[in-house]
Amino acid sequence: MAQPLAREVAEEVAKLNGVCIRPVALRRLDLVTGKDEIIDVPCGATLESKCPSCAKRNRQLRMAQCREGWHLTEEPVVSPDAATEEQRWLVEFRADMQARRDAAERAGEETQDWDAVLAGLDEEINAAGMRGKIVGRTAPKRIRSTRRRQDAPNLPKRKMASTTLGRTFEAVDGQVYRPSLFVTLTLPSYGKVRDGVPVDPETYDYQRAARDALHFSKLVDRFVQNLRRVAGYDVQYFATVEPQKRLAPHLHMAIRGTLPRAEVKQIAAATYHQVWWPQTNEVRFEGEHLPVWEEEAGYLDPDTGELLPTWDQALDDLDADAEPLHLIRFGDQVDAKGVLAGTPDSDQCIRYLSKYLTKSLGEGLDNPAQRHHTARFVEALRYEPCSPTCPNWLRYGVQPKGAKPGMTPGRCRSKAHKPEHLGYAGRRVLVSRKWSNKTLAEHKQDRRTWVLEALGQADEPTDPHRYVWRPVRPGDPDLAPVGMRLLRSVAERQRWRAHLRELETRASGQDLSATEEEGRAA
Ligand SMILES: [Zn+2]
Ligand SMILES: [Zn+2]
Repeated sequence: MAQPLAREVAEEVAKLNGVCIRPVALRRLDLVTGKDEIIDVPCGATLESKCPSCAKRNRQLRMAQCREGWHLTEEPVVSPDAATEEQRWLVEFRADMQARRDAAERAGEETQDWDAVLAGLDEEINAAGMRGKIVGRTAPKRIRSTRRRQDAPNLPKRKMASTTLGRTFEAVDGQVYRPSLFVTLTLPSYGKVRDGVPVDPETYDYQRAARDALHFSKLVDRFVQNLRRVAGYDVQYFATVEPQKRLAPHLHMAIRGTLPRAEVKQIAAATYHQVWWPQTNEVRFEGEHLPVWEEEAGYLDPDTGELLPTWDQALDDLDADAEPLHLIRFGDQVDAKGVLAGTPDSDQCIRYLSKYLTKSLGEGLDNPAQRHHTARFVEALRYEPCSPTCPNWLRYGVQPKGAKPGMTPGRCRSKAHKPEHLGYAGRRVLVSRKWSNKTLAEHKQDRRTWVLEALGQADEPTDPHRYVWRPVRPGDPDLAPVGMRLLRSVAERQRWRAHLRELETRASGQDLSATEEEGRAA
């Protein structure tokens, strides 16, 4: 009777101390010292699951990053080939992690924890602008006809200045003001909503809502492109994607520099994104009647035995008169307000921006009407193709890109279809490349140190052959009950804090508040 209670207490104590409450235990053999021990890896290190402590830590890092870039007074230092450099760094880091995973495999051990880390890195690599997975091939870019170009010609266009900073204004008393913007963008209405729930679920446009959520990140990209064109400088932003009560994603964006509010509204109104995918209005295969896989050929029509068009063929078949599968725009509710550096107002915005980072998109909506609404939304997403590789394409007679055996429509495992993501599988935080004034090397080092720390490793130059990592088998006699492990981590955390305080008292002229914040974040 007493034990589960003790564990709950340990969890509470761990949360209060910012210690991960869902640690993943890994065995680590140090080939140099011969030490073989169990290391608790914080769940946040997998970049997927995040307990309240890991989520909080992540939020604090993000707030620091947001604050750092918003009202910058000097151009950030960015080397010209920064993107490639970041990509190269990610790839090298991934190779490093892969080596460790392979070592674990060679030792005949399970690798799922390493695989989770690698999957997270693959996502980052894709987000860093590289197409496909490391091992995959990259396809040549498709040429679009002019009719399919998506720029908004009815917007004013200023001459581009090569700066990332906004204008400053000088007051009569000589003080210089550097106004910035806080913008909120929402999606259109899909039907009348009361308390976050459709008044009439039968007429609520779930299909449109689902497709808008799936393609939301593309619309945001277009908005930024248009914003830069109109503003006439290399506008930088820090944005977060959050759920509205009605489950549509919306966007809060801190923008460095300012534009007239009317122009921001004009840009939002003129921005759109067309999805040039094959049509899905005809369901060709469903239930038991599904395309059949044939080795070395692909998916065949079960009735005629004919090969279904591949993804590329299906795109080639879209003729000049084709309509886009989907057209997405923002709704009328555009909010833009000016914010001055260092004001309580700007702090408030930063807190607001990061408010939802500790929650998932579909969380915290719990009355029966909302549950019903969520279920309808997830159902609408079920057969909606989320990407070119989605198995749902088989339902509409097209082989998904990269088709492989075992694909079943309605069973796509991508995040977009899951209730906790509700169609939006993109990143929750979007930060432009020249946001903060850290050099790329510093950012890289931060990230590397953070991930390695989270993995319980000191950030020394890595010798991939030094450690052998293996998962801990259930029933391993060395694995203490989780409550005890949590308390141990708490003790370690407190020792570390005491050490930090000691350094603080020793150091003179240091920014104490900054150090404290780092301590809390850590
Ligand atoms: Zn955690
Ligand atoms: Zn899918």
